[in-house]
Amino acid sequence: MLYMVIEKYKNKEYRIIDILSEYNINTSDSELIKILPAFMIEEKCEYCGSNLYQKISSRSASDLAEKNIYCEYCGHIVSTNIFRKKCKCLGCQNKKNKEIEKKKQEILKLIINNESYFREILKDAYNRGRISENIYNSIEMILFLC
Ligand SMILES: [Zn+2]
Ligand SMILES: [Zn+2]
Repeated sequence: MLYMVIEKYKNKEYRIIDILSEYNINTSDSELIKILPAFMIEEKCEYCGSNLYQKISSRSASDLAEKNIYCEYCGHIVSTNIFRKKCKCLGCQNKKNKEIEKKKQEILKLIINNESYFREILKDAYNRGRISENIYNSIEMILFLC
């Protein structure tokens, strides 16, 4: 029955007032959405493979609004809106860390492949007093070790 209520709520052809009376739900139009549970969707969580759940969006919500899709198992929140805050679940954190690590490796590679050029920049910056001797020596050391 709950499933039917959800389906009818999503289908704007059904008036909410009719849904309420058909299923004997004792609440108001605007309150209905709050008591409807999240429903399972086809999509699986990209991290743990569990089924994702979606909270019903209000009928008045625009198509661009966040869709409220999440994983009950690992807490991942699927972003359907680019303006939303980033998900802080473990999977997303790991993914982000890996991306940062990859970027670092790319930059390091770039430096190694252009070592003499970077040495020149470094020396120049040092000679102009833009970086301290400490930093200069540290970076020299890194270049030496690479
Ligand atoms: Zn998950
Ligand atoms: Zn996440």
